[in-house]
Amino acid sequence: MTLVDDLRAILGSDRVHSHPLELLVYNKDAGVTTGEVVAAVLPETTQEVAACVRVAARHGVPVVARGAGTGLAGGAVPTEPALLIVLTRINEIWDVDTVARTAWVGPGVINLDLSRHTEPLGLHYAPDPSSQAACTIGGNVGANAGGPHCLAEGTTVAHILAVEMVTADGDVVVLGGKAPDPPGLDLRGVVVGSEGTLGIVTGVLVKLTQNAPAVRTLLLTFDSIQEAAGTVSAIVAAGIIPAALEMMDRPMVVAVEAFINAGLPVDAEAVLLAEVVGLEAGVAAESQTIERIAGEQGATSVRIAADDAERALLWKARKSAFGAVAQAAPDYYLHDTVVPRTALVDVITEVYAIGERYDVQMLNVFHAGDGNLHPLVAYDSREPGKTEQVRAAAEEMVRVSVAAGGSLTGEHGVGLEKRDLMPLVFAPVDLDAQARLREAFDPEGLLNPGKILPRGSRCYDYGLTALPGEAAP
Ligand SMILES: Cc1cc2nc3c(=O)[nH]c(=O)nc-3n(C[C@H](O)[C@H](O)[C@H](O)COP(=O)(O)OP(=O)(O)OC[C@H]3O[C@@H](n4cnc5c(N)ncnc54)[C@H](O)[C@@H]3O)c2cc1C
Repeated sequence: MTLVDDLRAILGSDRVHSHPLELLVYNKDAGVTTGEVVAAVLPETTQEVAACVRVAARHGVPVVARGAGTGLAGGAVPTEPALLIVLTRINEIWDVDTVARTAWVGPGVINLDLSRHTEPLGLHYAPDPSSQAACTIGGNVGANAGGPHCLAEGTTVAHILAVEMVTADGDVVVLGGKAPDPPGLDLRGVVVGSEGTLGIVTGVLVKLTQNAPAVRTLLLTFDSIQEAAGTVSAIVAAGIIPAALEMMDRPMVVAVEAFINAGLPVDAEAVLLAEVVGLEAGVAAESQTIERIAGEQGATSVRIAADDAERALLWKARKSAFGAVAQAAPDYYLHDTVVPRTALVDVITEVYAIGERYDVQMLNVFHAGDGNLHPLVAYDSREPGKTEQVRAAAEEMVRVSVAAGGSLTGEHGVGLEKRDLMPLVFAPVDLDAQARLREAFDPEGLLNPGKILPRGSRCYDYGLTALPGEAAP
């Protein structure tokens, strides 16, 4: 029996795709790299996922988990011919506990659907990637996704209490639980952000957050990106951590405005979208302080959303930024780095200089409050040599961010895209430790191989001596 025959025996023909035309939709995510998929399966239960993993292991075929495929780092793109396990059909919200403020959900639940479901209960799921209308909770766990409202609330890892996971040999385990501060190693924390390399998540216990009684959203306009970045640092230095603090530069504002028509100031060099939440009195006070600080830093105007409709429009504009880039060029390459907030001005200035040096069209939109930069290069991949030029510029932007004390990725994950840059931030001995941990979960290396860790991450590959108690190979 072939792998596909065995998979059909478990799931039936309808939920096993192996025709090359069907597989075209599965061979890439929202990034720029493609991979080879042997078959894509759509299980509907944990037991079906476990059975598919066992069959793939018997055939020696690697397994890659996939949610909605909105990842930008190639996390769900196979590096070698693989079985894709697509989790979108395990999409039920099983158990909402309004007292504990938790819910068990399937990995295929769409992020925004979860908050819509709990809205009547006065609760929401806080991490809100801009892709939240499409991406899944399982994919968010895989990438440890962030979002505009993660500044005050923390990224996905801060909102996951437990995961149910199918291991490399097809067992089902639950890591974590409702009880706070459980004993033992925090394997739940290790799995969040592991991009499907440690197991396939089939259920997620999420923390729900109470909806704020009052919200105020401010759009601040500046004549320079440096003034806007300075305002970000000054707000935090004043002791205010807004719920969100997002920045867009002029090229991005122009593209978004042409797309959404939200009344954004297209002549401003930069805009900041700030949101404060809490009790009315606190919200009013913080909003006034932000207005004052922005004025001191050179803001030319402040617009406060008058009602929920205007607030929703401003957020729609911000969250449509990547889609809006189609106004500028047919392709984009998006980078995701993070820098200390205090280095924002210097790094942004350097990023613009790189854009000019490589003669690429750049638009910037980012979670400024947490120093998460998204330099986005718009280009036409049909132009000879352009893709290579764009990649070279992008890599330099990453190097500048790291040199300023930042890191490779703020939220999109390492995947394939940043894998070979890992030695910029990890010493060989660190990579070795990560490789050993991974081997403990997946000794045969069948779970999303070739991701996150560069080839030769075991220390002896770097020519180091063996670790204590281990003979060098
Ligand atoms: C327009 C746009 C805006 C975006 N904005 C943001 C943003 O603001 N913040 C942000 O963080 N990201 C953002 N992203 C990136 C992306 O949406 C996130 O990384 C998201 O978490 C991916 O979810 P997904 O369901 O599409 O997962 P996929 O892309 O399918 O997979 C992502 C990773 O998780 C793994 N994975 C998926 N499901 C499972 C599972 N059940 N078990 C184990 N591993 C699994 C995959 O193998 C892969 O490594 C954006 C993307 C786009 C296109």
